[in-house]
Amino acid sequence: AKERGKNTYRFYTHELTQRVYERLTMENSLRKALKNNELILHYQPQVDMSENKIIGVEALVRWNNPDMGMVPPVKFIPIAEETGLIISIGEWIIDEACRQIVHWKSEGVEIGYIAVNISAKQLMHGNLEKTIPLILDKYGCKPEWIELELTESILMEDPEYSKNILTLLSEKGFKLAIDDFGTGYSSLAYLKNLPIHKLKIDKSFVDNLPFAAADCEIVKSTIHLCKGLNLTIVAEGIEQKEQGEFLLREGCMIAQGYYYFKPMAADLVTQNFHISI
Ligand code: C2E
Ligand code: CA
Ligand code: CA
Ligand code: CA
Repeated sequence: AKERGKNTYRFYTHELTQRVYERLTMENSLRKALKNNELILHYQPQVDMSENKIIGVEALVRWNNPDMGMVPPVKFIPIAEETGLIISIGEWIIDEACRQIVHWKSEGVEIGYIAVNISAKQLMHGNLEKTIPLILDKYGCKPEWIELELTESILMEDPEYSKNILTLLSEKGFKLAIDDFGTGYSSLAYLKNLPIHKLKIDKSFVDNLPFAAADCEIVKSTIHLCKGLNLTIVAEGIEQKEQGEFLLREGCMIAQGYYYFKPMAADLVTQNFHISI
């Protein structure tokens, strides 16, 4: 038994060393990613189901590394957060989104807005109320063309600070959206305390529409809540026609999901914008 214990321990340290090594490699590569132009933004359209048109897009970052291939954001955003790299990566994302929407508008591609995901550290330490307006000025981008997506858990980390910075950003004209609504451990109090414009119903509530009774009720109540509070509502993760039909029937007009469009490169958005859905 002693022998085996020892081997298990060795095996474990080996595994751990391996993981630490991979992690360090990824961290080092991520440091170079920006400089080497390995990051790219893809865009997933949000469609108005009642008019069958694209009204805005969500920017989703992609990392194409020569050695590791396509690294999904769920793998590198957490590392970027822990290392603080998210501040410069986040600024690049906002910069690129501003450049893109100004470019689209100049081409006559009237995409209403680009929604950008903001991470916790970026909100807390990114000086967003100063850095974002500076980036906008660089391109002549209007604040209402940029929407900031935040999750409930990000807001709950430091409610007081969140409130201050979000109020400043909202006063400057930026739209704020709550991402993955309903999945965080938070009260609804922030809906009356914060200058929120939009709620995004999480995919987990959409997946089993229109069959799961509980999900149907949660979605209907959320739509009702948004009507009452004058918030725009978007449903994410629509993969089936029936899901979209249920949402539209219940009064949620805006949808985002593979059924309509997957995230795609900017030039594909341009092409699709001119094709009716
Ligand atoms: P999220 O903000 O909730 O983004 C939605 C994710 O769901 C995206 O995955 C999108 O491709 C995927 N999705 C959209 N529609 C469907 C659908 O109908 N079916 C399925 N199965 N999936 C769908 P992605 O691009 O891999 O992003 C994952 C997460 O990584 C995002 O979740 C967000 O938390 C984070 N992320 C992505 N881009 C950025 C970014 O630029 N900045 C930050 N801070 N986080 C980002
Ligand atoms: Ca999002
Ligand atoms: Ca989401
Ligand atoms: Ca989600």
